[in-house]
Order: sequence, then structure tokens, then C-alpha cells
Amino acid sequence: MTQAGKNVFVASRLPKRAGVSGWVATLAPRTPRPVLNGLVVADLAIIGGGFAGLSAARRISRLDPSVRVAILEAGVVGEGPAGANSGFIIDLPHEVASDDFSGESEARFRQSVLIQRSAIALASEMAAENGWGKEVFDPCGRYSVAISAEGDRHLEDYAQQLTKMGEAHRLLNGREIAAVTGSPVYTSGLFMPGTIIVQPAAYIRAVADCLKEPVALYERTPALSFERLGTGWLVKTPQGSVQAAKIIMANNGHAESFGFFRGRLLHVFTYASLTEEFDPSRLDGERKWAATPALPMGTTVRRIGTAGGDRILVRSRYSYNPGIEISDAAIRRAGRLHDGKFSKRFPMLSGVGMQYRWAGAMALTRNHVPAFGEIERGVFAACGCNGLGASNATASGIAAAELALGHSSELGRIYARLAVPTALPPQPFTTIGAKMHLAYREWSAGPE
Ligand SMILES: Cc1cc2nc3c(=O)[nH]c(=O)nc-3n(C[C@H](O)[C@H](O)[C@H](O)COP(=O)(O)OP(=O)(O)OC[C@H]3O[C@@H](n4cnc5c(N)ncnc54)[C@H](O)[C@@H]3O)c2cc1C
Repeated sequence: MTQAGKNVFVASRLPKRAGVSGWVATLAPRTPRPVLNGLVVADLAIIGGGFAGLSAARRISRLDPSVRVAILEAGVVGEGPAGANSGFIIDLPHEVASDDFSGESEARFRQSVLIQRSAIALASEMAAENGWGKEVFDPCGRYSVAISAEGDRHLEDYAQQLTKMGEAHRLLNGREIAAVTGSPVYTSGLFMPGTIIVQPAAYIRAVADCLKEPVALYERTPALSFERLGTGWLVKTPQGSVQAAKIIMANNGHAESFGFFRGRLLHVFTYASLTEEFDPSRLDGERKWAATPALPMGTTVRRIGTAGGDRILVRSRYSYNPGIEISDAAIRRAGRLHDGKFSKRFPMLSGVGMQYRWAGAMALTRNHVPAFGEIERGVFAACGCNGLGASNATASGIAAAELALGHSSELGRIYARLAVPTALPPQPFTTIGAKMHLAYREWSAGPE
């Protein structure tokens, strides 16, 4: 992972937008923070203004408010994956670890919960401090919903594991989940109260906008390269540079664009569509709910009720794109799939069209560990956050901030014990394997 001896790291590519996120399009415009012009001297530079980068900045400012931080975000805050996701900040792992839930898998479960709840604690602290409303940050919990006998079984198994772990939950039968969703197709549901549901673009903007001096955020300011300068680093951007003792790389899969974790990150995109507004009387059930699928590769659905009308979000489909970019045609193809999922679940909304479609990049690792740690002297990575990226990337950002500042915590000790991401097979085997694996898992999710 490290490139010992190298003094200059140059970005071979920068993030590209993939469609127009409905979350951003339906918010009031926000004036981005300025582009970096000229030289700025800071204690720490953070590359990337998503969950990991902004959470790292927040944690640093709590640990030591005198630390000067310069955050460089290539695009506009909210327009990247952190603002384009489905908005679930989840506290519990998605998958049942094993049938018998042995001591080892129980320890893994508890560790995962501790990581995710550390993220939720940080987010909740900011929400309380800044008085964010429920339209931004809603601790309302989530449903996991089934649409098949296999999905029902999965939810029942998972509920049993949650009982063993002492985690609160409630199983709902078909009638009960229909009373929530208004959809006749769901056969059962599992409610888990610990998830935070956010309007992701509003949330990540709010996190950015509550950061105070001496934390400075520069938008539309990609880091193009960084090089050693004395005992620290000089990060170059199109119109300026940051001289800093330390760097936190919080640019997820684009860590690889600087040469780090090469051949160890799987660049996977997922896709979303958001309907136009519809008259709430057309759909029974509650006006606001959020549901992940019973099987992990299935379809996430949310209903968002606002004064102007309601909308449905559909998130489904994964694709492997090692170049970290996708075409408009890929978004259109996923959109056709979304239309089918939507009409199956909500036949009563026939004629309601999708107004926005988009996609976003995630970075996964083969052994499901983050790409984390000190990767060069004074350069720390908080990348490759796998599934549950909202909570995992937030936690990685916190842990990277603590590591950079030499602060010790339980979270930091967990991160210190994590394995490094394992190497992927050489090409073309990774591409073939990843595509087959995704196709198989999507097929296994069946109608879910
Ligand atoms: C449609 C969709 C739905 C999803 N739903 C969920 C969900 O409900 N819950 C969940 O937990 N996860 C979800 N995810 C995954 C989640 O959004 C990601 O895992 C998460 O955003 C990762 O956070 P991050 O901060 O590590 O990276 P990102 O959010 O990708 O942030 C990295 C930032 O780095 C910037 N950057 C890259 N290169 C540079 C550079 N050279 N210089 C400066 N800046 C740079 C990028 O512009 C970007 O803003 C979803 C993803 C998508 C696409």
C-alpha cells in the first residue's frame, strides 16, 4: 500500500459526476465555499469532502480547536457520493454473520456495531448542536423489507440474531408492513430503531457548513498532487497549494488514483432514481419511511413526504467500473430496472415518472476491511469503506483524525487491529470475477 521512497504523488484521474442527484436538485441552492487561490499554510490537509473527510475535520476540531485544517473537495459538497446516497446511516451490520453465531462472529458483530455507532454519535452530536430538523437528520429507524419467502426467512433469521445480541427490533407481517409502505407486495418487514435517516445532500452540506475557523473548506478544488516538503507535504491544486505537516486522504476509491492501494480496491457504482412529486392521497401508508431490502443486493426504497407532495426513491443495481466512471447509458439502463421495481411495488402510482436519475462510486475491498492507516509518513488514509459507507466512512474519518493527532480511543484500537485490504487477482480476472460475482448476487436477490 505504501510507496516508500516516493516523494511525489500525482492524481491520474479525478472524480466525475454521474447524473443529477435528486437530493441536490430538490434543495435550495447553496453557495459553495471558495476555490483555493494561492498558498495556504495548515497543520493538516484533508483530501475529499465526503463523510470521511468532513467527519475527520469535525473530530479534529473537537480534539484540538487550534489545529488549522484545509479541506480540498474536487467538486461541490453534496454532489459526490456522500450527498447522492440513499441516506441510511446504519448502526447494525446488514448480513447475518453465520448460522450458529459463534463467539468469533459475535465479536465481529459487536465490533461492527461499535464502529457504526461511533459514527452515529458524531453525527447526532452535530445535529443536536446545530438544531438540524428532521428533514435533514431523522433518528426514525429503518425497515428491512421482504418480497419473497426467502426474504421472509432471512428477516426471521436476522431477527433471531438480533434477539441474541440484545438489539431492539420488531418483526412485521405483510399486513403490518403494508400499513407502513402502502405497497401490497411486501410480505414482511423488520424494524430496527437505531438507523438515522438523512436527506444526504442536506446532511453533508450541513456538516460542511458547521465547520468553523481554523477549519477551511475549499470546493471545486481538486488535489492534483502532493510532494514532500521538509518534514511535511505540499498539496497542489489548479490555482493554489496547501503546505501542511500531515494529510488525510478521504477520497475513497480515488486514493488509488494517487497510486495507493493499487489492485486492492473494487470500484463499484450503484444507481438511484427519484420520482416526480405525486399527490399523497394516491398512496396509503405513512408519508415518510425508509426500507432496505431483506437480501443485501436487493432494492432500497424510501418515501419522502413534503408540503409540495411526495416522492419515492428507488436504489438498485451495482456495476463494477475499474476506471471509476460510468456512462449516461449505464444510468439509463439502471433506470429501466428502477422503473420495473417501482411499478411492481407501487401499481397505484402508475403514470408517476422518475424525475432524476444518478449513480455514485463506492470502493470495496475483498476482505471487507477499510483502506485505512498511515500509508506514508504523515499521510493517513480513511478510504475504501465497503457497505454501510455512510457510517463506516464517518467512523474511518474519526479514526484517521485520532491517529493523525495521536489521540487514543477504543475506536482507534479497533482500527489499529484491522487487516490490510487483500490484493485482487490480476486483470482480467478481477474484472471477470467482480462482474460474475455481482451478477450472481443480484440474481440471488431475486425479486427483493
Ligand atoms: C446511490 C447510492 C446510494 C447509497 N446509499 C447508501 C446508504 O443509504 N447508506 C450508506 O451507508 N451508504 C450508501 N452508499 C454508499 C456511500 O454513499 C459511500 O460509501 C460514501 O459516500 C463513502 O464516503 P466517503 O467519504 O468515503 O467517500 P465519498 O462520499 O465518495 O467522498 C469522497 C470525496 O472525495 C472527493 N475527491 C476525490 N478525489 C479528490 C481529489 N483528488 N481532490 C479532492 N477531492 C477529491 C470526491 O469528490 C468526493 O466528494 C450509497 C452510494 C450510492 C452511490
